[in-house]
Amino acid sequence: MEDTYDVVVIGAGFAGIVAARDLTDRGRSVVVLEAGSRTGGRTYARPFAGQEHLTVELGGSWVSRALQPNIRREVARYGVAVKSDLPTENAAFITDGVLRSFPVPMAELPDLERALCHLRDASKRIVTGQPLSQQPLADLDVSAEDFIRGLDLGPGTTDLFYAVVAWYSGADPRAVSVFGAIAQTAGFGHSPLGFYSSLNERFVGGAGVLLQAMIDQSRLEVRLDHRVAQVEQTAGHVTIRTEGGQVVRARSCVMAVPTNVLRHIDFSPRLDARKEEMLATDHLGRAYKGSYLVRNIPRRSFTLGTGKLHSLLLGYECEDGTCVMVAFGDDKSLSDPLDREEVQLAVREYFPEAEVLAVDAHDWCADPLFRGGYRVDPPGQALEFVRVMNQAEDRVVFAGTDVDDSVWRNWIDGAINSGRAAADEISAIMHR
Ligand SMILES: Cc1cc2nc3c(=O)[nH]c(=O)nc-3n(C[C@H](O)[C@H](O)[C@H](O)COP(=O)(O)OP(=O)(O)OC[C@H]3O[C@@H](n4cnc5c(N)ncnc54)[C@H](O)[C@@H]3O)c2cc1C
Repeated sequence: MEDTYDVVVIGAGFAGIVAARDLTDRGRSVVVLEAGSRTGGRTYARPFAGQEHLTVELGGSWVSRALQPNIRREVARYGVAVKSDLPTENAAFITDGVLRSFPVPMAELPDLERALCHLRDASKRIVTGQPLSQQPLADLDVSAEDFIRGLDLGPGTTDLFYAVVAWYSGADPRAVSVFGAIAQTAGFGHSPLGFYSSLNERFVGGAGVLLQAMIDQSRLEVRLDHRVAQVEQTAGHVTIRTEGGQVVRARSCVMAVPTNVLRHIDFSPRLDARKEEMLATDHLGRAYKGSYLVRNIPRRSFTLGTGKLHSLLLGYECEDGTCVMVAFGDDKSLSDPLDREEVQLAVREYFPEAEVLAVDAHDWCADPLFRGGYRVDPPGQALEFVRVMNQAEDRVVFAGTDVDDSVWRNWIDGAINSGRAAADEISAIMHR
């Protein structure tokens, strides 16, 4: 038997749940179909494997009410608790092959100033509250190499710049568009060093607490273990078929799945040629995030550089003097991200005395429901991809942080922003 709704939302991450919430609040009948056995998508908090007294957040966690308008609004609406990070007391950088406490060799201070000013000037061209793909910014959608060409930066400053791009993208910094890093700088209040401490809040209990509040308060119908295999549009209706053979009909549809997944879903009629072309291969974002229980590192540390790991941040301190450090890299950083000894070698590049006691991580790139980390595009495609994906296919609208058109694309705030925009577009479709 087929179910019929006003709207079917596919994917129960923040984008899908926000779209479903906004449409339900406007009186629409909505069902959310989620392939996995949990909600939250790329936000995922659970006990630390083998250390069940600890918690890990395997995906999105850091937010800022001061900088992110959607986070500010949703936290206020649902009254969920957030906590602030402990201030950093120590920093370690690897640039130009040297472990150092200042990011670049002192002789390169003028280079560092030129690089920071260049990034800040570029970011200032971005009007943060407006869709980025509609602003004249195409000349910033270039490779990192092209962006810093002519600045005559020394090797330490060049490494620092590439390390920032690698950290933001979870990819080879030489292969990706630098636009994401520039947009990020704009989001941080046009602060090139904003990565250091701007996003300094996390949800108590994980981001899922906010998501669950949305589901509960709007009494959303979410069906888990419903992996969508086919989306068919006929005469004013959308028919959804899952791998398990369930069929749902609706008058419109929000596709809020990661964009690497889209080409594995059968669309009838086919998506427009430009979308198919841009979705034909996996994007470049191969983000890796690991959580390590560590001892013997300096108190409240932060690292960034060209080590195997792009960055290490403090997760939290434990009462016995150990701490959980959160590592960022890409899928080439470690041959086995769960191998304690290999992880320890990588951490010791920054902290030679470190002892890694336990390791946990989720492989987002190998997970068939995600097939990657946060979306990163090659030079020349960052703005174009968002523009193309924000064009609806008749009654099917695309949502998700991957297609968000704000400076917070790739973050939870961007997912929420995209979910809100999708709800507005579906409302317009339903009225026509
Ligand atoms: C390692 C990592 C660290 C991050 N750190 C941060 C951070 O600190 N702060 C921050 O703000 N953001 C962070 N992010 C980004 C943030 O997690 C994402 O921007 C956000 O969660 C994406 O939400 P979404 O709804 O767009 O997509 P998703 O959360 O990916 O949701 C998509 C959903 O679609 C489902 N799905 C897939 N295929 C199908 C199908 N065929 N049928 C039905 N359902 C399907 C998936 O199971 C998933 O639940 C991080 C991301 C990663 C990967």
